[in-house]
Parts: sequence; structure tokens; C-alpha cells
Amino acid sequence: MDSYALCPCGSGKKVKFCCQPILTEMAKIEKLQENNQPRMALQLIDKLLKDHPQNAWLVNQRAMALIADERNEEARDGLVAFLRKNPEHPLSNGLLALAMTEIEPIDQCKKVIHRAFLKSMSAEPRIVAILAGKLVDYFMSAGHDMAARQHMAVVLRLEGEQERQRTLMAMLEFDSDTGIPYPLRGAHPMPIYQPSEALAPQVKKAQRLYVHACFSEAADLLDQVVQQDANSPELWHTIGLMRAWDGDEKRAAAALHQASTLYTDPEKAIDVETISQLLLRRQRENTIPAVVRTFDVESLSRLLTRLDNEDRLCRMPLQEQAVMSGVSAAYDVLDRPVPGTSELASATLDSVPRSIGQITLFDQDQEGNAPQAHVNALLGERLDESLKIFERAAGELAKPAAKEEGDDEVLGWYSKEDIALNDTAFFPPQTPSRVRNVLRRQFVEKSVPQIWLETPLAVLGGKSPSQAAGDESLKVSLTAAVRVLDSFMDRRGVMLDVAALREQLKLAPPTPIAVAEDKDVNTFSLPQLLRLETKPLSDEMFERLLQRAIVIKHSGLGYRLLSEFVNDRPQLVEKKSQEAEQAYITLSDLASRSMRDEDAFEWLSKGFQFSKAHGNAFETQLMWKMREVSLRARDTDDPAFKAVLLEVWNHYGAKLPAVRARLEEFVRALGVEAPWQSAILTPQAAGAAGNPIWTAETQSTASGEKKLWLPD
Ligand SMILES: [Zn+2]
Repeated sequence: MDSYALCPCGSGKKVKFCCQPILTEMAKIEKLQENNQPRMALQLIDKLLKDHPQNAWLVNQRAMALIADERNEEARDGLVAFLRKNPEHPLSNGLLALAMTEIEPIDQCKKVIHRAFLKSMSAEPRIVAILAGKLVDYFMSAGHDMAARQHMAVVLRLEGEQERQRTLMAMLEFDSDTGIPYPLRGAHPMPIYQPSEALAPQVKKAQRLYVHACFSEAADLLDQVVQQDANSPELWHTIGLMRAWDGDEKRAAAALHQASTLYTDPEKAIDVETISQLLLRRQRENTIPAVVRTFDVESLSRLLTRLDNEDRLCRMPLQEQAVMSGVSAAYDVLDRPVPGTSELASATLDSVPRSIGQITLFDQDQEGNAPQAHVNALLGERLDESLKIFERAAGELAKPAAKEEGDDEVLGWYSKEDIALNDTAFFPPQTPSRVRNVLRRQFVEKSVPQIWLETPLAVLGGKSPSQAAGDESLKVSLTAAVRVLDSFMDRRGVMLDVAALREQLKLAPPTPIAVAEDKDVNTFSLPQLLRLETKPLSDEMFERLLQRAIVIKHSGLGYRLLSEFVNDRPQLVEKKSQEAEQAYITLSDLASRSMRDEDAFEWLSKGFQFSKAHGNAFETQLMWKMREVSLRARDTDDPAFKAVLLEVWNHYGAKLPAVRARLEEFVRALGVEAPWQSAILTPQAAGAAGNPIWTAETQSTASGEKKLWLPD
């Protein structure tokens, strides 16, 4: 090594005047660390430290070796002692934070991590990227999605080219995670705040903090600034984002709401108010947990007999996966006795039961533990009622399992205001498909908006949306509440007619956004994407927008853009015929999930025609027909269902015997009479299972979605 080069210890001196005497040993230590031999490295380091106790390089190498050897407390103690004399050292600050995250829960390490962000970000980007990555994991598991995504952006900024791709994928995955309400996904651009001259120095300090991802410290500082500039919506908006990125969603909600009351641009006000409402409704005090109570069971077979005889319990068919994990039976607890077959045939939304809880029975497990029963429901009345029914039926056969210390096992948290919306009709397995279909449609089309319109909301000062309609002071909150409802429906794949609802509530239609041709579509927030004017766009720009919409998976936006694609952009369709065919499939899926069956059939028929016109293979055409079979199975009494079954049987089944085997299986699973029964003998095609052509949903897989929301 050139003795006039800068010393690797980071002292800033030249090697000759610094670590020259131990240079050979330094190389050896580095080699040992690289080969993951921390103990050998430590021996050498400790020997050298006797003569060079304050050598920064040795101190940090020692900490690294100790961390690699999982002796984090020792690493911490050495670093703390060194930092007392050298508080700015970038590597020591980074390593200390790293060691601390191995010792303490990560939320208690925030201070030391933020210190490392400030001191080490430019000099030690890789260590800071690891620390930010740990915060991403923590925020993800805590459900603080905005904070998780913002820290992903920090990681992205600091990583090497190779890791970048992985982080980019993770961010894309985040943006397309329909489990997160869409207004919280994607980027949240910071507003531009212009402070007065007097406030500028403090704002500059805060800027330095949030550039270094110290969001809580930045927000604390801006909290002081806002006391002297309380009417700036941009400042409140900034504080709100900082708090959200720090995972402090309660204070984020408050600041963003404040911003919404100050913005004069209604769209900006609605955007921040929507985020505020979404964050607020998931605060613990605004939610109810669904919990599990466990019982030890004495005789599973006797218990089954008793539960089967209980008129408030309805036994449900088991999914294969449940059987694999040891479930021997599952029941829904109903709010009224299970209706008889004739009652089910004439059921209405009012008469059909609601499910208030679930009971799951588990076989004796492999370790020989006794069989168990799990009763789960929302904490409160529903759990009490479910437990009462179970205990009454089970009698001496089930005893509460010895509880471990602490609280109930929580399955999930539900917003109190969503409970009524989640409360959906329950269909016992023997409910005719026609009745299910009609009631499901009624539920999606009428019931949900009706229930929502009459549910008092805290953000409307306790008024229901229909009461708040026309109230000028509640206009912004009400429009945001409509968007929150849209995100609730969207999470279930259902399109809400937002325009109609806004009109009904006397709310102005959204202001369209004109897009410049060269604009990067990724910079729009998701609510902004919904307002873009698409008709004037070139095919190229439109395609980029479509790509973004496909990532985001907002059903309403996807439906609108895909319709425009196949209906109004013939040149793009010709160029992208495969994508167009996929578009017809997606359009029919979106329509069918929203229970708009007529639209779904129309898209299927258009897709079939398109496929035929483009000379696609027999198998592809069959795929379209199979989709129709599957969708028409929603109403097995409909003559069109029998017609399409016969068409597939005769036209496609004649050439592909496997098709007939699958059709046989399908009608058997549905429990309907096969229309070909009298005419043709059943072919016994071997190996038909797993045939990739078959995409139709059977009744049993469809009912597996029931717990999500829509009953089947
Ligand atoms: Zn040196």
C-alpha cells in the first residue's frame, strides 16, 4: 500500500503517520472477517489493542467480530466507551445501532438508529440500508404501511445496484397489495412549504432531519414551527406525513385533518382528509378484535353428534387445506336457527341468517395432544353468544383449555364502523344457487350503500352520511368518507359507483386532471390517478397509465381503462392482441366480482369473438366457454347454464375426452343433473385431473372465499 495514501482507519491521516506499524496485521484481520472467522480475528485484534487502545479501526473491527459472533452486548459496551470520546464516528455509530437492534426490540432502538442515520448515512450507506431495512420489517409487522414504504424508499436510495432490484420489486408489491386501502399505497409527494424568514432556519434543520429519515425528530421540530404559522395547510400536511412515516398514525391523522380544514383547493383537502380518516379508523380504540377461545375435547365423535343437533350451528364443508392441517369439522354460529330447505328457497336478505362466529374442531395432533375446539368471534356480544351456544351443546365434553398468560389470541382488528358493512348474509350449503346469486347481488348493489348511508360516522361529527349531505361544513369529510367506502369495497374486489353516490350526497364531481404527455405516471398518488383525463392521451401514454393501473389493481380504475383499451383504441389492440385478450378476461372477472353478471357475460362473449377472429387455438376458445360455464353455475336453474354445458359437451367434448370427464366432475360437485345424462355414455378419461384447460370454479372452492366477505 502507498504509505502516502489515506489510512484505512478513517483517521484522515496518511498511512505513514498513522497505522503503518500494524498494516500487515490489519490485512490479516480483514481476511479473517471476510472468511467469517470472528474468533480468530478477535484474538489478533485484542493483542493489537493492548498497544493501540484508541485505534478507531481496531475498535470497530472488534465490534464487527463480536456482532458476527453474536456477542452483541460486548460489542455495544466497547462502542459506547469509544463513542464517548469520538461521538461523530460514522462506522461506530452504525455498528452500535446494529448491535442494539439485536439486543432490544426494534421500536426501542429508534433513537440510536436515527442517530446512525444522521451520522453514518453518507459514509456508511450499506449499514444504514440494513438498519432502514430492519425498520421496514418492523413497520410491516406492526401494520404501519406508509412508514414501511417510506423506509423502503430510504433503503432504495442507499443500496448498491444489485440489491436495488429486489427493493424495487418489494415496493411494487406493496403498491399492488390490495390488503392495504388504496389511498395509503403508492408515493405520497411532500407539499411545498414556504416559511417566513424568521422560521426558515428551523425549517431547514427539520429538512436535514427528514432527508436523513429522522421523521419523528423532524416532526417534533415542525410542531414548534407550526405554533407560529398555524394556518399553513402545507406545514400541517408535512407534519402529518412525517408522523405517518414514523408509524405514529394517531398524530398523523390529527395533523392531516388539520391540513384538510385549511386547504382551499378541495381536491387537496379531500386527499389528505382521506388518509386521515383511514389512519384514524384503525386506531385500537376504534376497532374491535376477533379473538379465539380454546377448549380441550374429550370425545370428538360424541361432540360432533351434539353440535350437529344444535339448531344455531351450521356445519360447513371443509377445504382440502383445512383437512390437511388437522381440522375435522367447522361450523358457523348463526344469529337464528338454520332455515329449512323450503325456507331457503324463498329467503330474502332480511330472513336469511347472519354468521356471528365460527367453531373449528381439531383432531388429536401428532404429539398426542387431546382434540381441541376453537371458538372465534368478535370480542363482546358475539363472542359471548357463540361461547354460550357451544358450551350448552358440548356440555361436559369440552373444557376451557388452560390459558397461557396474557390476553386472548387476536385474529384481526376490525374498524367499529365497518362492522355493519361486514355483516353479511350467511348461506347454508343447501341454499339454491339462484337464491344465493340474487341475494348476493342485492347485497352488493343496495344493502352496502344503504347500510353505509345510515351509519353514524365519527368523522362526520356523529352524523350518518345521509344526514351530512348538503352540510357545507362537512363537504370535505363526506367526500373523503365516500373514498374510504370505495377503498373498503375495492379491497373486496367490488366496484362502487362513486359518481352516483356523490351525486346522491349532493357532492360535486371530482375535478379531472389533464396529463402532459411526458409526465411520469408513477408520480401520481392513487387518488390522483382516478381523476386523470385519459381520452386525449396518445396510445403510448395511455399504455403506461394502463400498466400503472394494473399494478395498483383498483377495480374501478382498471375497469374504466381496460374498457377504453378494447373499445376505443383499435390500433393499440392490434399491436397488443395478447394483452387485449387478457383484458377481456379481466373485465369479465371485475364485472362478475361486482355481481354484474350481464356485463360479465358480454365481456366473455366479446373475448370469445376476439379470440376466434384472431385465429386462436381450439383450446383457447374452449377456455372462454369454460369461463362461461363457471359463471353461469351461479344460477344452475337458468336454462342458459344447461345450454352452455351441452354446447361444451358436444362441440369440445367430442374432440377432447378430458373435457367431458371434467364436466362430469363439475356437475357432480354442484349436485345438479347432467343435461347429457340420457344421451351419451360417460367417457372415463384418465389423468384428467390437473388439466390446465379447466379454469372453472367449483362450488366448493367458491365457498372458500366466504370468510373474506361475500357469502356464496
Ligand atoms: Zn490509521
